[in-house]
Amino acid sequence: MFKTLLIKYGEIAIKGKNRHLFEDALVRQIVHALKPVEGDFYVHKSQGRIYVDCQSAYDFEETVEALQCVFGIVGICPVMKVEDRGLEELGNDAIEFLQNVYDIHDQSFKVVTRRARKSYPIESMEVNCELGGRILEAFPEMSVNVHNPQITLHVEIREMIYIYSKIIPGPGGMPVGTNGKAMLLLSGGIDSPVAGYMICKRGVKLDATYFHAPPYTSERAKQKVVDLAKQVAKYSGPIDLHIVNFTDIQLYIYDKCPHDELTIIMRRYMMKIAEHFAKESGSLALITGESIGQVASQTMQSLAATNEVCTIPVFRPLIGFDKQEIVDVAEKIGTYETSILPYEDCCTIFVAKHPVTKPNLNAIKRSEQKLNEKIEELVTEAIRTTETVRIG
Ligand code: ATP
Ligand code: MG
Repeated sequence: MFKTLLIKYGEIAIKGKNRHLFEDALVRQIVHALKPVEGDFYVHKSQGRIYVDCQSAYDFEETVEALQCVFGIVGICPVMKVEDRGLEELGNDAIEFLQNVYDIHDQSFKVVTRRARKSYPIESMEVNCELGGRILEAFPEMSVNVHNPQITLHVEIREMIYIYSKIIPGPGGMPVGTNGKAMLLLSGGIDSPVAGYMICKRGVKLDATYFHAPPYTSERAKQKVVDLAKQVAKYSGPIDLHIVNFTDIQLYIYDKCPHDELTIIMRRYMMKIAEHFAKESGSLALITGESIGQVASQTMQSLAATNEVCTIPVFRPLIGFDKQEIVDVAEKIGTYETSILPYEDCCTIFVAKHPVTKPNLNAIKRSEQKLNEKIEELVTEAIRTTETVRIG
């Protein structure tokens, strides 16, 4: 059982002076991700590396799975950590490592030594040759292949010496918390959880807003969104989910405005309310799961009409994705199964048979005039009665 995992991180290493901020955020996110995993973990930085020391028995699979949700991690390497007791002993350690990690010993291999401690008396090349020779003696079926080996045995010489050969891929991206915060419009569909995941992957912390329309939408539909938020929170860390009661606003629009414009007008009010919560909590942008042309409310004209009410940037990371591409990500991140559960959505209940696909902004604004009497009051009330739950 490995007692140490070496965490490799890519992009964040290039951040110059800010490097330590990124490393600290990564450590914080790793600690958070490991909280629900049973075991005593010590996460620390040391000489430009991050290590997870596993100080008690732990479930390897579960631990790796949790780490694979931490953005910024490029690779997870189970390492054997040994004292420097000279080259002879190091050879024995390398042999023991291969003995433990592999069942058969007939692969091609090469040794790659990195001498991070410059005072180590032997050059890297010499260590490679020495260890390579010892391994061949111990496992005569193995062979050296420097160009395309089946096993690359990494030996990193620091205060201690670290031996590893497997690099389990991480999710990449940047640690959450290094790029501010954004407000996700989270519905129960397939797209919006994926959109949240993608923005969060760039280091952005998330909050979310969900619009429901009781009694037209059920408690179960709401629970579905909470479940999706939980799944996204595995990657993003805690999310404040604002649950807005949208019923009265929807009924009012339904009553006053042309039905073919309903969806667009509704979506404009959703954006406004989400923006209110964004500003309140310091979110710098809105995120939606829209993709050009996917439905009537996502044509170029519709997107422009919806966008027009926003004063902060709206990010639509799925804008150029086909549905199948979105589904692939949803499956990968574990939201798909929940998203396809058949509960009603507030948008589909009031939807017109033939919604406008090329809304004219002036016409929309004229229709909205008809809401003047009560809409402000209804929006204020919806904001006042919003329930906020902390997820994750
Ligand atoms: P999704 O699969 O994310 O629900 P969709 O294909 O159903 O998207 P729409 O219903 O047009 O498309 O919604 C487009 C985007 O608007 C969603 O991705 C989401 O960001 C936001 N949205 C839609 N309905 C709601 C809702 N009830 N609450 C919060 N946001 C919503
Ligand atoms: Mg939807």
